[in-house]
Amino acid sequence: MKETESAKLIAIVEDDPDVAKIIEQVLADFGFHTAWCRSAGDLLRRLRTLSPDLCIIDLGLPDMDGIEVMQRVRAQSACGIVILTGRAHVSDRVMGLELGADDYVLKPFEPRELVARVRSILRRREAGESQARLIAEFAGWRFNLGNNTLVSPNGAEHALSTAEADLLKVFVSNPNRILQREKLMGARDLAPTDRAIDVRISRLRRKLEPDPQSPAFIKTVYGAGYLFLATVSWAGDSTAER
Ligand code: CA
Repeated sequence: MKETESAKLIAIVEDDPDVAKIIEQVLADFGFHTAWCRSAGDLLRRLRTLSPDLCIIDLGLPDMDGIEVMQRVRAQSACGIVILTGRAHVSDRVMGLELGADDYVLKPFEPRELVARVRSILRRREAGESQARLIAEFAGWRFNLGNNTLVSPNGAEHALSTAEADLLKVFVSNPNRILQREKLMGARDLAPTDRAIDVRISRLRRKLEPDPQSPAFIKTVYGAGYLFLATVSWAGDSTAER
């Protein structure tokens, strides 16, 4: 048992008891607490009282489409989300990431790889918490690194997924420099794909760019990567409670 992770709670939504048992076992081996939910309805009910640090969501559930479950979890909780899917179709995976999942694992999976993904996401989220009081300001925008919110110059607030926020953190920390895709993937991705980074970039652009077709901030540098074109200044979050 690793003390530091013993308090982390992982909710597992999986209708196949055998698969759920494997996941619960390997997570327990690594010191996590687990809560198994047999259905989407079960999870959504339990989210009223449970506050999991992360949810592992099977996309093939009997009572609700996995993508819909994910959206509803997102609306209710700021927990990390890993999609578990037997569907080999790229479109499902891309849609999952589009909707704010932090990562996905294809079935059949190697249990230890699943744990590695879970730990990587939790580590990133903890690293984010230590930046909780920081706000990056650029061209009238305010990005709060503590709660992953982005406020536009006219005051409109956007909640970013963990993956989008991680990406924007790299950008605001390294403005006006060409960043290779590898740098932008961050530590979470064990098997980074160009497609995954492109999906996150396009999501961020839709929130950040007045004209996503002709981006002003996130520039594509063909053959090299991306560049965040802005003057960034940093401020403390005076409204933060801690
Ligand atoms: Ca299933």
